Amino acid sequence: MSWSENKSCAVRASDLVGCRYRLRQRRTHPEVPEPPEALLRQPQVDAARAAVFDNLPVKRALGDGSARRFTRVDLDPARPAESVTATRAAMARGADLITNAVLTGTVDGVEVVAEVDVLARRGATSTYMPVMISNHRVARAHDGEPRMRFIPTGRLSLGAPIAVAARARHHTVDGYRLALAHLLLGAASDGWGALIGQDRTRAYLVESTRYVAPLRDALAQPIPEAPRRLKQCASCRFWPLCESQLTAADDISLVFPGGRADSFRERGIDTVAGLIDANLGEPSRIAEAWREGVPVLRRRGAAPVPRADVEVDVDMEAYLDQGAYLWGAFDGEAYHAFVTWEEVGAAAEEANFAAFWSWLMGMRDQAHAEGKTFAAYCYAAGGENHWLTSSAKRFGAVELAEVQRFIVSDEWIDVFAYARRHLVGTDGLGLKVLGPVAGFTWEDEDVDGERSVALRLAARRGDAQAREMLLRYNEDDCRGTRAVREFLAAGAPGVPDL
Ligand code: SF4
Repeated sequence: MSWSENKSCAVRASDLVGCRYRLRQRRTHPEVPEPPEALLRQPQVDAARAAVFDNLPVKRALGDGSARRFTRVDLDPARPAESVTATRAAMARGADLITNAVLTGTVDGVEVVAEVDVLARRGATSTYMPVMISNHRVARAHDGEPRMRFIPTGRLSLGAPIAVAARARHHTVDGYRLALAHLLLGAASDGWGALIGQDRTRAYLVESTRYVAPLRDALAQPIPEAPRRLKQCASCRFWPLCESQLTAADDISLVFPGGRADSFRERGIDTVAGLIDANLGEPSRIAEAWREGVPVLRRRGAAPVPRADVEVDVDMEAYLDQGAYLWGAFDGEAYHAFVTWEEVGAAAEEANFAAFWSWLMGMRDQAHAEGKTFAAYCYAAGGENHWLTSSAKRFGAVELAEVQRFIVSDEWIDVFAYARRHLVGTDGLGLKVLGPVAGFTWEDEDVDGERSVALRLAARRGDAQAREMLLRYNEDDCRGTRAVREFLAAGAPGVPDL
């Protein structure tokens, strides 16, 4: 349990991003536990923090001079309430680094708390720079003039910033975290903060002051009185509570989540019943289908998915945005897995990608040589296209132009694009929605992004069950893609018309 949940209902930066009703639920129902997926993510978060903390300096290096002793204070993250006083005391003593610092106070009349991963004293001054560890990628290399500066994590509070040709990648919550710490530090902040992203060795400098105005705007927003369904509800610990409230209110967001219901609300339609009664054509029909428990409706006249003599269904698994470790393919008879359990981003990933690509092109070339047509399919090609292109760019083993030609060719088919033309889903048209409609079931429960990251970490450590599960899941995604496209090609039998 975090400090703010334990001791008060102070607002954290994360309360200001995404669902604002969550803060009300957290204050009213602090006892509701985190869902299992969030607990699965925790080892990854802990590993990131441990990697940074292990790298932080504990003393001056040769050449730093020895005019003053270097002091590092590591506060106990399990005792955050005590850390509030301990943080201020360590600052008053002039500690050079303070880990797991906690700052509290009031901003514009709102009680707030900032959990600061590292407070780094700025050289011999009495100011401190908040340093936040993020699981985002916080900077991306680019060609051209240096635009960012970083301090090596191992030199925080000691080293001078180094200019680098990189562009910042903005994530709202990271900006709010820095701005909140800046405001709570007051005169002890010089307006700069730092973010340590997926590259744990670099703390990129960021002007915290840039985010103060947006933070203040966010703090000024009233907390909603009632929930509205959003994408993030699917992984939120308060969903059972919110779902019953939404159901009792017959809220329109049950069918059209997020901003998709805004145009209806502007017309005074706030409920599912209201939308059905309004007789607005497609949206009303979707609401009616949702009410009846019908997951999918069929549009008339859509062209079916093209077929070929030789067909391959492809699915890829990537680890965060660091690399693709698994390319799976089902050729109608057998599943072929091209996988590496080594670190991605280096020779092992390159060899694996090259093996997959050469197999796929070999299948295509053989089909052509036999006078047959060829097609490779995937479901929602964005991820596959990104990693096909990125792998060819990063590694020399496969020619980029060949990959690009293939992606735009008629032999690479995104089944999702056809599903969207052909069908309307009351809960989206994801593969996991359409698979069961097409009669396909997965052997394992849904492995979402977080679960797959946790499984990948276990697989890397040699966990045979995790490896099997990732392969089985990838195989089922390939087979599910085939089942869905065959179902679409058959005209989506049994699905009611829109
Ligand atoms: S379940 Fe949804 S509406 Fe409720 S608190 Fe969570 S994110 Fe917000």
